[in-house]
Amino acid sequence: ETKIGVLALQGGVAEHLNHLNQIENVRAVAVKKPEELNSCLGLIIPGGESTTMRKLIKDYDFKKAIKDFNQQQKVIWGSCAGLILLAAEIEGENEEQLALLDIKVKRNAFGSQLDSFIEKDIIPKVSTDPQELVFIRAPLITEVAENVEILYQKEDQIAAVESEYIIATSFHPELTDSTIFHQYFIEKVKSLSN
Ligand code: GLN
Repeated sequence: ETKIGVLALQGGVAEHLNHLNQIENVRAVAVKKPEELNSCLGLIIPGGESTTMRKLIKDYDFKKAIKDFNQQQKVIWGSCAGLILLAAEIEGENEEQLALLDIKVKRNAFGSQLDSFIEKDIIPKVSTDPQELVFIRAPLITEVAENVEILYQKEDQIAAVESEYIIATSFHPELTDSTIFHQYFIEKVKSLSN
């Protein structure tokens, strides 16, 4: 059984738990205290409001715990606000981040004319079928370092990336009917935990 935590301070926790628990041999738990990370092999930082979540991460002493978790080569997936918190740099903000992923992001900037929209497209590494990509006031990835692979981009707008121990998406696979992206995450968790 693969135990996965979903950071449960704020945001779309239930949807991720629900998707993870549909996958065979996966048990998903809501993580509310840093020590609950110890028994998890992977972690999802959900979408929500990154400013609020950052404050709660600080208040609940999660920063070091999350950084240590990743240091132990355990995989973290950040979706939307989660992506923002993982980024090394946020345009126009100098608040300290988890900074576990060497990218630069711009908040509320993907498909900047629209607040929210759905794309249907193929993410080649994840699936050969088109997937629904749900964007909600989504962050745009504006720069990626050499050690970061681009998983999906639309024209020059980057929306999904992966590094050795991190996955980050601007969009919300947990708000679709498909568990394919969660399965992709689980495969990465498993490949690093043996
Ligand atoms: N716009 C939000 C932020 O900047 C992220 C939106 C989301 O997670 N759906 O925190």
